[in-house]
Amino acid sequence: MSPDSATSGVENLASCHDCGFVVALAGEAHHAETRCPRCRAAVHRRKPDSLNRTWALVVTAAMLYIPANIFPVMRVISLGQAQEDTIFSGAVYLLVHGMWPLALVVFFASVVVPLLKLLALSFLLISVQKGWSWRPVERTKLYHVVEAVGRWSMTDIYVVTILVALVSLGNLATIEAGMGAVYFAGVVVVTMLAAESFDPRLIWDRARETNG
Ligand SMILES: [Zn+2]
Repeated sequence: MSPDSATSGVENLASCHDCGFVVALAGEAHHAETRCPRCRAAVHRRKPDSLNRTWALVVTAAMLYIPANIFPVMRVISLGQAQEDTIFSGAVYLLVHGMWPLALVVFFASVVVPLLKLLALSFLLISVQKGWSWRPVERTKLYHVVEAVGRWSMTDIYVVTILVALVSLGNLATIEAGMGAVYFAGVVVVTMLAAESFDPRLIWDRARETNG
């Protein structure tokens, strides 16, 4: 069997996004919807309109990232004095008060990682649009890292929770979530949706065209 016939037989097969069942797609009719015989979910050879959807979500997340860092994520009222902290000033506050491991967690989880994820997704999108055949294995790994990091992005929310607990122990202070926290949650959720809508098989479509 030649390598060509090995791939041509696979062309009409696709795995169900939901349950992983391998389904034979109905011929050339790309618009015809195929349903998974096992779980009835819609099956596509590639996620529909993946590049446009992912770009739209990446741009949205990037726009939310700005107010997430400008507006305070929390407001602490202690002994009648209110103090508002953004993500960055919160990290500095923790650092100044000797809680540097927590400061690093806040800084990396809230400032660095969301930005790196958006940059990585933009890079993957551009690489597919430009039709690069460059290092498909590494680019697929990069995608898996971005996807896997998603579930750890809520770390910052846990940090705020810990702070609420710490401050509440004093019993003299109240702590409230600020507008920035809403935008930050938006960044996290929209970035997760962006990673989900990207189809890593697009990386390999081009790589196979070039190698074959
Ligand atoms: Zn299924």
